[in-house]
Amino acid sequence: DREEAASAPITPGALADGTAVPLLANLGSPDGAADAVKLGAEGVGLFRTEFLFLSASQAPTVEQQREAYTKLLAAFPGKKVVVRTLDAGADKPLPFLNDAHEENPALGLRGLRALRASEDILREQLTALAEADAATSADLWVMAPMVSTVEETEYFVALAKEYAIKTAGVMVEVPSSALLADHILARADFASIGTNDLTQYTLAADRLLGSVSSFQDPWHPAVLRLVREVGAAGRSTGKPVGICGEAAADPLLAVVLVGLGATSLSMAPTALADVRATLLKYTFDDAQRVAEAALTATDAASARANAQAIVSH
Ligand code: PEP
Ligand code: MG
Repeated sequence: DREEAASAPITPGALADGTAVPLLANLGSPDGAADAVKLGAEGVGLFRTEFLFLSASQAPTVEQQREAYTKLLAAFPGKKVVVRTLDAGADKPLPFLNDAHEENPALGLRGLRALRASEDILREQLTALAEADAATSADLWVMAPMVSTVEETEYFVALAKEYAIKTAGVMVEVPSSALLADHILARADFASIGTNDLTQYTLAADRLLGSVSSFQDPWHPAVLRLVREVGAAGRSTGKPVGICGEAAADPLLAVVLVGLGATSLSMAPTALADVRATLLKYTFDDAQRVAEAALTATDAASARANAQAIVSH
């Protein structure tokens, strides 16, 4: 199947009934852009900006950032490129941002919380993004990580608009944001679900800790119910809801996520072919039925088995 998918023609992501499901790339630096395009990425659904900061002892300058963002955007003329503002803290510590020595960094000053506490760094990042946007023709979307309240959503969207960022959204990777997704999407232009952190926070199991790694399964119906909440909010507000966590790279789970209301899927470029081939086998009605079957399960393994049973009939 994998070989079949790899040799299939590269077409835009779609279901069997023609419903478009744009397939986007997760990238960690502009260097991966050319390969992503070759593998059929229709744009970028998550550009992680940490690479610019992680090796540095101080924040990169606006000029350094502008150069990197321009290189990225220039690789996707006319295409959507979702850039995430710096996600520092917890699994991505930064010496010049996170010096708090927290006992529980995943629950601490991370993501947007950390940048808000060092707002000059956030403002510089938005400045560089706006300048790169003006110099290129990609469709730039900007989002903040680790947003856990409606107020943070308002804060980030208002700040991004100060820099003339046209499309500003938030990541949904904390249960509170999923549960209030209707209010969040009333204020943001889009949401993107980060299933890695959403799973970590829903199951209360550190994603980096081997002893609890069995909890880190996005098939868990508790996670799927939260995704359903965000999907429903997307439909009722008419706003896009993307998925950019690892879950989107699992072809059967991708079908479930679309059935729950995801309007685009972003993944490591090497996963695009398999997901593209699998989506083409199912209509949106099928996807909804598969999702419904997974949702009724009591645990991750039975959610997967329920979904598998529907599609093998
Ligand atoms: C996620 O949490 O699912 C996500 C996409 O972000 P990261 O893995 O970078 O935390
Ligand atoms: Mg995350």
